[in-house]
Amino acid sequence: MSETELTTWGRDVRAALCPVCDWTYLLPATARLPRCPHCFGAELEPVAEEVMQLPYVSPPELVLPFEVRPEALSQQVLRFAEGIPYPPEDLNPQALQSRLQPIYLPAWLVDVDAVAHWQAEVGFDYEVLSHQEQYSDAGSWRSREVKETRIRWEPRAGRLQRHYDNLPAPALERAAELTRDLGPYRMETARPYAPEVLGHGLVRLPDRLAEDAWRDAEPLLHGAAAEECRQAARADHMRDFRWAPQLQGQHWTLLLEPLYTTFYHDDAGQPQPVLIHGQTGKLSGMRRASLKRAQRIALIWGGIALGVLLLSLLALVLSFVFPPLALLGAGGVVLVFIFGAVALIPLLRVWMFNRHTVL
Ligand SMILES: [Zn+2]
Repeated sequence: MSETELTTWGRDVRAALCPVCDWTYLLPATARLPRCPHCFGAELEPVAEEVMQLPYVSPPELVLPFEVRPEALSQQVLRFAEGIPYPPEDLNPQALQSRLQPIYLPAWLVDVDAVAHWQAEVGFDYEVLSHQEQYSDAGSWRSREVKETRIRWEPRAGRLQRHYDNLPAPALERAAELTRDLGPYRMETARPYAPEVLGHGLVRLPDRLAEDAWRDAEPLLHGAAAEECRQAARADHMRDFRWAPQLQGQHWTLLLEPLYTTFYHDDAGQPQPVLIHGQTGKLSGMRRASLKRAQRIALIWGGIALGVLLLSLLALVLSFVFPPLALLGAGGVVLVFIFGAVALIPLLRVWMFNRHTVL
């Protein structure tokens, strides 16, 4: 354990990798290696390199705490499991709840010093009074005063020297997809990282280099600078903001975002992961009805139909000897059609449901 590790993460850490989904995690050095809390497809394997030699290990700075109350979490899980026709046997609230895993997702935070000359057009609101003449029903002209807000644009230029703190940028290739499914994280509750965090949940390491993430931070920096120049000019609007900043002292740290994961086994026995936003409780996962269970029920109805068919045919044959049996046989054939249709219903419901299954 080097000094650097101790000063950044505050305790002995080691890295582990999932051989199925390739997610890399940081966890306390003494912790046993669990099943991958992302895909649940395999046990994590230790990473051979020294932790600090890994390309994506940067010091943590801020942590967003888990905020979903346990009751709200149970409700979400219940809602997810309910309403599925013929759910797989393993998809039940108790199983999902018992497998909940807290983990932290990384996001980049970058600090930077900027020096730049800038130019832009700044806009000031002003009001114009005009009069509109209207012909009234009473048969006379009326003059109405109309106030209109217009913008006066003026060119401005200046020099800016500023330090920007904690501009956010995605640290995962899948970040956009996760935000689409689960929603964004609120920053208001962020607090400084403390080593206890590592005991609470595994930390997912970034799979996106800081240099790549800079592409996403740059427009935020541009926007922040434009807004500051607008405020400095006491203007109401700004357009065509241009600057060519000299950037120095870029410092990258990590923000840790809370996420719960859990899973259920599908028909094929494969784990189906379910992800839950650690602040809002919003849930994302595949909701799939079980074709196996539907088939079993369909087979029972099919068997009944077959039995009735055989009895009906027997009744029809015997009706040559004893004619009243013909009526019984004909009624039986009608029942066969009804039971046959009933047998198809579970299969159709599962097929219809599985066409739209992502929550
Ligand atoms: Zn995995």
